[in-house]
Amino acid sequence: MVKSISTCKEYIFIGETMLKKKRFLLIPLFFIFIFLYIHFSEKKENDVITMVRNNKNTMIAINYPKTKDAHLNKKIENQVSSAYQNFIEQYEDFKSLEGKAEFNVDYEYHEIDDTFLSITLYYYVDSHTLETPTREITSFLYNQTSHEYFTLNQITKNTKELTSYINQTLKEKYGTYVKRTYKEEEINTFSFTVDTKKIALYIPSHLPQFSYYVVHIPFEYFKINKPKEITSAFQYIPKDKVIQPREKVIALTFDDGPSRNTKNIVKVLNKYNVNATFFILGNKVSLYKSDLQNLLNSGNQIGNHSYNHKLMSTLEDSDLEEQIKKTQEVLEKELGYTATVLRPTYGSVSKKMAEKTSLSIVLWNVDTLDWKIKDPKKIAKRGMAVRDGSIILMHDSKDRSVKALEIMIPKLLKKGYQFVTIDELKEVQMIRKKL
Ligand code: ZN
Repeated sequence: MVKSISTCKEYIFIGETMLKKKRFLLIPLFFIFIFLYIHFSEKKENDVITMVRNNKNTMIAINYPKTKDAHLNKKIENQVSSAYQNFIEQYEDFKSLEGKAEFNVDYEYHEIDDTFLSITLYYYVDSHTLETPTREITSFLYNQTSHEYFTLNQITKNTKELTSYINQTLKEKYGTYVKRTYKEEEINTFSFTVDTKKIALYIPSHLPQFSYYVVHIPFEYFKINKPKEITSAFQYIPKDKVIQPREKVIALTFDDGPSRNTKNIVKVLNKYNVNATFFILGNKVSLYKSDLQNLLNSGNQIGNHSYNHKLMSTLEDSDLEEQIKKTQEVLEKELGYTATVLRPTYGSVSKKMAEKTSLSIVLWNVDTLDWKIKDPKKIAKRGMAVRDGSIILMHDSKDRSVKALEIMIPKLLKKGYQFVTIDELKEVQMIRKKL
């Protein structure tokens, strides 16, 4: 049921002919191979297990970590799979007029020190009925050496003091919404997460306006150290970017995402330290929220490509406005991001469109035809037919586009092209006017 997309794999190739001719080399090679194997498996980073599905009545997007620890993996897998089964049983045969029911799992991963790991799983269910979406949080504080899971009072210096701190903070933060105080033994049963700044405790609220009461507790109350760094799978720290306005620039653009391929594209872009612009569909934003967050963190740009890919140039005024506005809104809500550029669906622009929107309309001048051509090499060849200032059209819904990118980017870099986003392209054009 779950498909693994591994984040990094090391391959070691040994030339076949060499082995045949020089057999005496086999033994040392064997040891080198073993050494490399151990070396790489130790350095191997955590994987992410991802499952994305668009069923008849449900939409699924699951991301959870696969760590180096089998005990912990089993525990996480069991929990995610039982939540998934419950959701499917409840919603797969149930058709809502408002849209498909959504199930989303995401996570946070923090290495506290060599011993402790903190993993938090976030569950989100939106049935698209009158009920408000439900959010659930479960967490594990795991000792990798002893394979134990820790409860809050096992890591607390003084449970009594902690309990009174929690009750007092709840009162200050939520006032009369909190009807009672919590006892020491209750506090021990709640989920908590550990990150570099704080420990957060989640208390189920039974009120529609809060899924949980959240209390942030300072590290002074605990016996454990502050985590040294955040190692979330989606964390990427962009390097400082320098664009030379006098040198050649091109802008890669991807239409029709986000999709299960988005994160693979971002991975390729990150590998070569380049950026692109993604013209996305609003109706898919919440399903791929963490991938889009990662895309933005890596310095890429997001543009508007309508809400659900209607042919925009033929729409009535109000429908056209709705297609643009709904996507702007979902980007603001889910990512706190305001898109500044619009790519009309099918590249078809109407006069009305320009009047109806304040976003700037961006087309392209190099078409890879990756929606039609199946061979990644041929797609790459079309994508490399660029000159200074070219905007290249690709689609992030295709596997072959990812493969074509792997061919194109290093070759274009070698030719001296700088990869810029649409906003950066505009800036370069402005600077050049002044030069
Ligand atoms: Zn499109």
